[in-house]
Amino acid sequence: MIIQPKTRGFICTTAHPEGCAKQIQEQIDYVKAQKKLTGPVNVLVIGASTGYGLASRIAAAFGAGANTIGVFFDKAAEGIRTASAGWYNSAAFEQAAAEQGLKSHSIVGDAFSDAIKTTTIDLIKAEYGTVDLVVYSVASPRRTHPVTGETFSSVIKPVGTAYTNKTMNFHTGEVSTVTIEPATDEEVRQTIAVMGGEDWGMWIDQLQAAGVLADGATTVAYSYIGPKITHPIYRDGTIGQAKNDLEQTAIALNQKLAVLGGRAFVSVNKALVTQSSSAIPVVPLYISALYRVMKDKELHENCIQQMYRLFAEHLYNGGKAAADGSHLIRIDNWEMREDVQIEVMRRWNELETDNVPELADLEGYRKDFFHLFGFQTEGVDYEADTDPSVEIPNQV
Ligand code: NAD
Repeated sequence: MIIQPKTRGFICTTAHPEGCAKQIQEQIDYVKAQKKLTGPVNVLVIGASTGYGLASRIAAAFGAGANTIGVFFDKAAEGIRTASAGWYNSAAFEQAAAEQGLKSHSIVGDAFSDAIKTTTIDLIKAEYGTVDLVVYSVASPRRTHPVTGETFSSVIKPVGTAYTNKTMNFHTGEVSTVTIEPATDEEVRQTIAVMGGEDWGMWIDQLQAAGVLADGATTVAYSYIGPKITHPIYRDGTIGQAKNDLEQTAIALNQKLAVLGGRAFVSVNKALVTQSSSAIPVVPLYISALYRVMKDKELHENCIQQMYRLFAEHLYNGGKAAADGSHLIRIDNWEMREDVQIEVMRRWNELETDNVPELADLEGYRKDFFHLFGFQTEGVDYEADTDPSVEIPNQV
């Protein structure tokens, strides 16, 4: 069939297998062109099919020659419905890893469930012995608690008072003003239950109890802080409350892993276009302005550059993981540089529909959005008949 993008707001309901495969190859090529990483060896990535988790998996496999297990929640193609982008990404990853002689497995299912945790532990025991790096990169709108059965939904809202700021429809480039009412206490509780640290903690507890964490094992989860203008909707909002909880979990996990000489971190990453970030009001306009400024200053990075830098400068290659005594790694340091933020804010104050193409990188934002689903990728013939059914090799 001919596969074209079908968008509904910030969602694209189709994905292109060849475009996704090409995006994967570009990330692999980037990593292979960098200095080799001194670790990790056996890696578990939870949330491994798109965004930061996928880039972590690629950096580990192709930068260090690591064996990888990826856990993710994606759908295969069915009838005329294409698979999700993460499915095609993972199929392409598995194929490239096999060609490189790297061991890897993909587990498709709900990472929040006990069943998937057990499947993962059994696989580690049977095939890998132990893992020495666990990356937690799940971003989800919902979670069903494995013990109570309660299903939680996360919301992106301010806490305490309503928040008004500029936002943008990135399809049309239209800038408007949005007001978001504050979350209820119940919405805060549910968002923390989905995006906070409880599930990360459960994973590490169960892996440790099963004896499948190597001595000196490292675990890392991802967070975001960002500039003051987005604080009410992000860092001080519902999602920020969940990130505070995630960061507290890192402190607790550090103590638990001490018996293994292990360590737990939260890496604070740069704002980038991913399926998750495009859903947040205000943020796409901020990201567009940020891209323009960082590209002009030759500081721009995508997920793969960020994850390679996390591994090369912080977690491996003799890197000093975090500032002394801190559980936070700051690879958002270029985004947060004073000169970058001053310039972004100067543009932010002037931004309106007419000047978006000039003051912000709307084109770059859109391109990255379509790339997420394998579209607008150079060298792919989008008019060609394409088979949407793709198997993931080594799927468990
Ligand atoms: P993403 O949407 O690209 O990836 C999310 C991953 O989670 C996918 O692999 C998906 O399959 C998986 N997933 C979702 N629900 C699952 C479930 N129930 N079971 C198993 N897998 C599931 O998201 P992302 O933007 O890469 O975000 C990853 C992390 O990075 C999040 O913690 C996010 O807050 C953080 N972060 C993102 C940004 C950004 O700008 N995008 C910046 C800093 C930090």
